[in-house]
Amino acid sequence: MGANDLPNPAAVEGDGLGCHSGKAQLLAAAQAAGKSEVLAQYAKDYPLQGPAAGAGPHEQPQSMCPAFGSLRVGLRMRRTHTILSGSACCVYGLTFTSHFYGARRSVGYVPFNSETLVTGKLFEDIRDTVHAQADPALYDAIVIINLCVPTASGVPLQLLPKDINGVRIIGIDVPGFGVPTHAEAKDVLAGAMLRYARGEAEAGPVTAPRNGVSDKPTITLLGEMFPADPVGIGMLLEPMGLACGPVVPTREWRELYAALDCAAVAAIHPFYTASVREFEAAGRAIVPSAPVGHDGTEAWLQAIGSATNVPQALIDAAKNQWLPAIKGALARTPVQGRITVSGYEGSELLVARLLIESGADVPYVGTACPKTPWSAPDLEWLNARGVRVQYRASLEQDIDAVREFRPDLAIGTTPVVQAAKQAAIPALYFTNLISARPLMGVMGAGSLAQVINAAIGNKARFDRMRDFFGGVGDGDQSGVWEEVPKAHPEFRADTRRQVIKLLKKRKAEEMI
Ligand code: SF4
Repeated sequence: MGANDLPNPAAVEGDGLGCHSGKAQLLAAAQAAGKSEVLAQYAKDYPLQGPAAGAGPHEQPQSMCPAFGSLRVGLRMRRTHTILSGSACCVYGLTFTSHFYGARRSVGYVPFNSETLVTGKLFEDIRDTVHAQADPALYDAIVIINLCVPTASGVPLQLLPKDINGVRIIGIDVPGFGVPTHAEAKDVLAGAMLRYARGEAEAGPVTAPRNGVSDKPTITLLGEMFPADPVGIGMLLEPMGLACGPVVPTREWRELYAALDCAAVAAIHPFYTASVREFEAAGRAIVPSAPVGHDGTEAWLQAIGSATNVPQALIDAAKNQWLPAIKGALARTPVQGRITVSGYEGSELLVARLLIESGADVPYVGTACPKTPWSAPDLEWLNARGVRVQYRASLEQDIDAVREFRPDLAIGTTPVVQAAKQAAIPALYFTNLISARPLMGVMGAGSLAQVINAAIGNKARFDRMRDFFGGVGDGDQSGVWEEVPKAHPEFRADTRRQVIKLLKKRKAEEMI
């Protein structure tokens, strides 16, 4: 690429271009720089809906940078090297988060500055890096991820070679202004890898799975889940003559072929739209929802059996074997209390189903993920029980639900948990405490009760803490002071005036 077909230099002009501002500007820049097609596909795959379709917070990442989803998928794969191309601050944050979550490999980085970006040298640097790293003794694949600024300026990863010395090169754009959540960014990479692997499988023989090919038809599971869950699902499938296939996103390249070579796909997490497209192109049926609780497991076994033409007698045998055991486990470990659920993992509706079958009253479920056909049975089940389900939920909606329903326990993301605890409501982090337990089949029934009941039982401690700390102030008045802080309303009014003036100035500039 030469200096004449430059990426868009406007994308890096001035300050404040990132997830904290300037979505419209970055989007326009990316479209002008030749990324319209990929952005249109993202808009279709990961639609904004409900309140977020307007000025809602999911138009910008509200918590974690979405690219973390793709990065994590790459870092968890054997013999895969993942390289970021983006602003140093974004890469610092993403690398930090990866290692915080226990990544065992290094994150590659191709740095840039304004000059290498506007002259097209950044693309040449990326190409040189990919060539230098493509060692088939070390890697099956190299993933290179364009973050916001390189996407907005049109760095053309699609021009990279598809293969160097037998190492596959997967270039993807994962900008915060095009991919709404880190959950969906997992799908961007998983979908790109499945597409590549499908092409390879169609072209000729491919590597067999590490543990050999299953002698039974397999069900591929879509969505990262607790490691015991695929084992539990395998047990549920056994009476029907089926086995559990790989989990997508996979942990190794060759698992992609085995994932494609399945009898049907279980969309356990409902947001893998690009991956589903690849499975459908390979002629695979997609089964929605998941085997959670009694009702969920019954419907799921029926749906899997029907999708794979298992005789009804075998489907009934599986139900007869497992459903009484699930019912027994739920009855032995009841959950009592009102619980609101919110999160961004994609399993929020499933968790709510399980809690309700355990005896809890769940008035609200918020998920950052979009509404798709693969959570439709869960939505229907929850709606039939009067639960308010909010797709693409904003932080404000989640916190408002806690205020409205005053639950005995709020399950949520970090800021929801913080808000609940400040109001002396016991709260649990979805990611660390709920996703770290089995949810499916017999093992899932009852696995949440202990942690949930212990948390609900902590209410008295929260009341004591509130009484103890209640007098130390709040917001800008909190802390240790020698004298009671004096309010200065005139300073606030002045700052407010200045902010309004600045906003008006920006708006006027935008209109020019
Ligand atoms: S790459 Fe992530 S952290 Fe960086 S500006 Fe985009 S959304 Fe924000």
